[in-house]
Amino acid sequence: MASHIVGYPRMGPKRELKFALESFWDGKSSAEDLEKVATDLRASIWKQMSEAGIKYIPSNTFSYYDQVLDTTAMLGAVPDRYSWTGGEIGHSTYFSMARGNATVPAMEMTKWFDTNYHFIVPELSPATKFSYASHEAVSEYKEAKALGVDTVPVLVGPVSYLLLSKAAKGVEKSFSLLSLLDSILPIYKEVVAELKAAGASWIQFDEPTLVKDLAAHELAAFSSAYAELESALSGLNVLIETYFADVPAESYKTLTSLSGVTAYGFDLVRGTKTVELIKSTGIPSGKYLFAGVVDGRNIWADDLAASLSTLQSLESVVGKDKLVVSTSCSLMHTAVDLVNETKLDSEIKSWLAFAAQKVVEVNALGKALAGQKDEAYFAANAAAQASRRSSPRVNNEEVQKAAAALKGSDHRRATPVSARLDAQQKKLNLPVLPTTTIGSFPQTMDLRRVRREYKAKKISEEDYVSAIKEEISKVVKIQEELDIDVLVHGEPERNDMVEYFGEQLSGFAFTANGWVQSYGSRCVKPPIIYGDVSRPNPMTVFWSKMAQSMTPRPMKGMLTGPVTILNWSFVRNDQPRFETCYQIALAIKKEVEDLEAGGIQVIQIDEAALREGLPLRKSEHAFYLDWAVHSFRITNCGVQDTTQIHTHMCYSNFNDIIHSIINMDADVITIENSRSDEKLLSVFREGVTYGAGIGPGVYDIHSPRIPSTEEIADRVNKMLAVLDTNILWVNPDCGLKTRKYTEVKPALTNMVAAAKLIRTQL
Ligand code: GLN
Ligand code: ZN
Repeated sequence: MASHIVGYPRMGPKRELKFALESFWDGKSSAEDLEKVATDLRASIWKQMSEAGIKYIPSNTFSYYDQVLDTTAMLGAVPDRYSWTGGEIGHSTYFSMARGNATVPAMEMTKWFDTNYHFIVPELSPATKFSYASHEAVSEYKEAKALGVDTVPVLVGPVSYLLLSKAAKGVEKSFSLLSLLDSILPIYKEVVAELKAAGASWIQFDEPTLVKDLAAHELAAFSSAYAELESALSGLNVLIETYFADVPAESYKTLTSLSGVTAYGFDLVRGTKTVELIKSTGIPSGKYLFAGVVDGRNIWADDLAASLSTLQSLESVVGKDKLVVSTSCSLMHTAVDLVNETKLDSEIKSWLAFAAQKVVEVNALGKALAGQKDEAYFAANAAAQASRRSSPRVNNEEVQKAAAALKGSDHRRATPVSARLDAQQKKLNLPVLPTTTIGSFPQTMDLRRVRREYKAKKISEEDYVSAIKEEISKVVKIQEELDIDVLVHGEPERNDMVEYFGEQLSGFAFTANGWVQSYGSRCVKPPIIYGDVSRPNPMTVFWSKMAQSMTPRPMKGMLTGPVTILNWSFVRNDQPRFETCYQIALAIKKEVEDLEAGGIQVIQIDEAALREGLPLRKSEHAFYLDWAVHSFRITNCGVQDTTQIHTHMCYSNFNDIIHSIINMDADVITIENSRSDEKLLSVFREGVTYGAGIGPGVYDIHSPRIPSTEEIADRVNKMLAVLDTNILWVNPDCGLKTRKYTEVKPALTNMVAAAKLIRTQL
């Protein structure tokens, strides 16, 4: 009877670590205060897992910021600019790498596979000097041991570490990150030796890159790395943990023949084909299979009967004593503890399991396999599963029929984009290089307070509406004074671009504490989509009409697109993602049509998260892009030619999906551009033709810096070199919500001045 947890959330059930970190960063508390919070959190997590009966409990899955940065610290791979002088890496160097300091910017951050977690990208070069500079892994192991818990220390595996790194600036193109294996393995050996000396009998290497499409030389790096580590690892049980997708057959072969390795961990939730692969290929005799059946990426209670039957079918392949029940990945990608959800009703609650509950599920499955099934627990689970399947709150036949009818057929506007743009221009009469913004204007403390008080019913609806109205009119006036061409209302009524819509759609639930770490101390609280989605009432029409009535200039209606709502929520696991997405698309379609009927001539449908939903494996990209782009088109295929549909995307690299973006068939797209070294423009330079309007961001809104007119004009001229004058729009990178008015006003003044300057030069 063995059970294992891949990793556990670090933030704490009420985001204790977040508050401790931020207070430390603000100089309001000491390092000791911060460390005390961290120690207490770790202790309570170990205690909880050990009391639940988990056999293989992870350690070193805690982090003050990020596990990849921890590995960088362990290896002493501190970029020169942080002026680290050696020795053990302390908080100051560590947090400087994570967040930058007064003189040096932070290291780059990027998304961890297809999750919403971001890691700090190691910057390596042939000159990087490695040294064993952070003993966290060993000290955490000892800390747990002192509490009476013998843990499995977890390290980011050496090959994944290098494959997730980037070459430092200025390093020759021919430099291969994998060539550094020989330099980092000696440090891994030191760590392993210390762990052994401290009494560890197991070690877990997370090698999630094994689920990606790897080249032969990358796979070979796994073989040579573990061959090199073999003698250091002898005497230890070694688990290689993979997650987030299937392990491709070729990689599976490599993985299961690594020397010195005794156990393999697989994500059997996302990796449905892996189950078949294990059954058909088997695993080497005497080795352990860590079967990740409990979903670490979602908040649903496990279907225990189904998992048990999967596990039983695997038992005959690997043998009873070699099968270990596990989570599909670290539980850090799910919410922490359902116990703190006091506002969710008991029916919905019975369908859910957060990290703390998943630990119990894993253990129950382990016991059931060993013939000690807790019948009452399984029966309660089966009842909850059945109630979820048949609940009228989940099922809305009308919505299901409408969504089913969409499949197989295409939805697109009848008139080609060039003719639509002509029709729109007749009505809108915009200058060349029209200026606009992305939607939100600065959100002041006052504004947040008004929303909070209205939600808590402390102020009346009347007072709320008049406060928001006043704000909108202020934002409209500012834009008119700046002489912007297409206006926005500023989104003062919205807390978050997904939550705002989720709260008004049926089929969504919201948690009080369902936080998931996004990066550092930053957490997000995704809505839960539990049922068929419909839109009982218009969501934005009231505000958009009000804003339009304040100005003769076109006012953009502002919506979040279906793919973004989907990708930023916890989604149903009882139907394919595309089905849920089509349902959301139909709801947004109604909103689009109501806005149009309400006299709104320009409607922006944000798809900020379209790219991040891209599956990890290339073979699955086409299918995803097909339904995602289709969902977007469904929202606006019914509008008149004269209604201009905008979309907006941020934070991305679009070059590989540019044809899908074109296929969205929006009239205008505004895109993040200024931070990606104008990579976007290179697509057009290489000859891709874009017939619709396009507004690559002319300045970075993530920075307080105010761009000069010349600088913006320069950028616009660069764009004009590759894009037609009559399709180019001038706008910032993204919404202005996080900026201050003292930054926004001068920046937009310069932006408009730049557009006007270039207009005179055409
Ligand atoms: N319309 C949104 C805003 O301006 C878009 C935000 C985003 O792209 N992340 O805030
Ligand atoms: Zn954006």
